[in-house]
Amino acid sequence: MLRLLLLLLGKVLVSSFSTPSFSTPSIYHRGDLSALSSSATDAIVVGSGVGGLTASLLLTSLYDRSTLLLESHPTSLGGVAHTFAIANRRGQFIFDAGPSLLTGLSKPSLNPLRQAFDMSGTTMPEMIEYDGWQIHSFGTREEQGVGADVDVGSAPQDGKFWLSYKMSTSDFSSSVHQAFGREAAELFTSFTSTILSKNNLYDASGGIPPFALRGDKLAFVTLASYYLNLLRIGPIMGNTLTGTFRAVYDRLVNSDNSDRLVENSDNSDNSSPAERFLRNHFDYLSFALSGYDMARTQAAPVAYMVGDLHLPGANINFPTSGGAIGPIIDAMAEKIEQHGESTIIKGTTVTSLIMEGGRCVGVNAVDVRGEMVSYRSEGGVILNVPIWSVPAIIRATINETAGDEKRALNEKLVNALFLAKTSKRSGSFVHVYIGVPVDDDIDIEEIHHSVIMDWGKPIDAKQNMVIISIPTVFDSSLAPEGFHTIHAYTAASDDFNEFAPFLKDEERPRSSEDGEFADNNCYKNNEYSKLDEYNALKMKQAQVLFDAIERVIPDIRERVKHDDAVVEIGTPLTHRRFNRRAFGAYGPGVDEDGEVWTLLQTGDLNIPGLFLAGDSTFPGIGIPGVASSGTIAANSFVGVGEQLREIKRGRKEKILQ
Ligand SMILES: Cc1cc2nc3c(=O)[nH]c(=O)nc-3n(C[C@H](O)[C@H](O)[C@H](O)COP(=O)(O)OP(=O)(O)OC[C@H]3O[C@@H](n4cnc5c(N)ncnc54)[C@H](O)[C@@H]3O)c2cc1C
Repeated sequence: MLRLLLLLLGKVLVSSFSTPSFSTPSIYHRGDLSALSSSATDAIVVGSGVGGLTASLLLTSLYDRSTLLLESHPTSLGGVAHTFAIANRRGQFIFDAGPSLLTGLSKPSLNPLRQAFDMSGTTMPEMIEYDGWQIHSFGTREEQGVGADVDVGSAPQDGKFWLSYKMSTSDFSSSVHQAFGREAAELFTSFTSTILSKNNLYDASGGIPPFALRGDKLAFVTLASYYLNLLRIGPIMGNTLTGTFRAVYDRLVNSDNSDRLVENSDNSDNSSPAERFLRNHFDYLSFALSGYDMARTQAAPVAYMVGDLHLPGANINFPTSGGAIGPIIDAMAEKIEQHGESTIIKGTTVTSLIMEGGRCVGVNAVDVRGEMVSYRSEGGVILNVPIWSVPAIIRATINETAGDEKRALNEKLVNALFLAKTSKRSGSFVHVYIGVPVDDDIDIEEIHHSVIMDWGKPIDAKQNMVIISIPTVFDSSLAPEGFHTIHAYTAASDDFNEFAPFLKDEERPRSSEDGEFADNNCYKNNEYSKLDEYNALKMKQAQVLFDAIERVIPDIRERVKHDDAVVEIGTPLTHRRFNRRAFGAYGPGVDEDGEVWTLLQTGDLNIPGLFLAGDSTFPGIGIPGVASSGTIAANSFVGVGEQLREIKRGRKEKILQ
């Protein structure tokens, strides 16, 4: 049993954190920075990404803790999930900087963000429910896995051609049948049916809500509410869920045991077209989720996604107004600030921790005026920042500490440096944000498109996959009349190091014998050096985005020449600067041996009163994942009795499984 828990929770269970006691929170007033600086709140959360917002939402509105949320960005909340506007004489173009594909939010579900809303009594914005997205893929018949029963017309000289099909949540097997043939559709159906069958991988992956987890050994007590689910999962299933999805694929498709789905298959290029299709498809889904193919993506989130996309009633969600993520971020911020003793401050970058008696009791920061400010907290601090930004904060803390405190902290620093160094990170992004006139000549049916540039290459090859979102398909108010907004990006497959030489010396990530770490104050400007060369590289790297958009709007390169068109290209440096993401990274990477992610847990820094959250911690990248990490961090702030009371209520009200 212990082994299973450890497998499921990793190191969540081994933190040395002890539950803090709380004094009556001090009351302070919004906008009164000096009063705020000297008073103490129950909790400080650093970073308003979805992870930090979820932690703050639950601390304030579920657990009634006074909370101060500090955000470095001067104007936007949400981290990579922020919304921004570009205006010209035609009006405003509203863009989602990052995520726009959301599931399980429109009604009560297993999605941890939806559960955080429901548990805290926060109203989810009204949502459109829709049926999927379009995939465009390029390659030969063999590379794409197109069966002999599909007529692809006259093959061009090199045998490569484009396929376009719908990733439909209601009837994907029909799309597969049409594009890849009968065998592919049958294999897909039997594969997903096995995953979705009772007590199989999907059930197990969603068996334990993050509300039952916490960052200390008392997790045994809160998990006891899910004893039966844990028993059902069992050690073998636990092992499978924490292994790679490739292992699941191999077991179900290639094994010679009773789970076998097809005969005589293997991993080589001799595999049947149907297997090639299935492998491509799950490599693609894994890559969209984690930035890696299925051989380096954990099975649990992929199994969960299979249910999210293919169970009866599955659908995708988009708010009826305001863009994909902005209304969700606004709803969370509004609710947090309704808690009379809590507030959110933007433009404030945390630079170091305040330590007392070996415990973290607050933070030092630079505020929007460039002045040093300090904030104290009775209960501790949640750092919802990428792990690669943490060593600089600890380094500065050491410099500001003396005596025994300093000696003790030095060990923590070594630990934090080690963790940051060994926490692998994925690649970065090139983005383009476009506003263009689109007339009746162009029929854009789908809001989302994935373009796989060449199945002759691995899915994670540089710039091989482009994701496109055209939110004005659903909400024309996001652009001036007659215009569409488009966001396209290469997901996690662009190289930060290619662009790093254009940073000014003082803004480059530091190198040391321990490795490279971002400096927290490196986001001041965009005056890159060798600007002409930078712009040339930027244009060169963005071409693939236009090539991909041509699948949807064939004359996009002409349309962007319109006088009132908007075109903004973002490089890995832009991604780093606007999102405060060290190295412009998407999120955590995988171990050298290519196995699954080694993910940090909320208490891993082993500094009492300090917790980690966000996408470099368990369970990883994605809106559901970071909402889980924020939930686990918030639970760690309260006593077990309080957490158990909420689990009981959540189950009674059918909010939690
Ligand atoms: C382009 C893109 C598309 C995506 N698409 C999807 C999708 O469709 N669906 C999905 O589920 N997921 C998607 N994801 C993944 C998902 O958006 C992220 O995993 C998640 O939003 C990360 O949230 P976070 O809270 O961990 O971190 P972040 O969003 O990085 O938030 C961290 C916050 O901390 C702040 N900060 C950093 N340092 C400091 C400091 N020292 N002091 C104060 N503040 C600080 C930053 O400014 C930032 O606001 C996408 C991600 C990207 C980049």
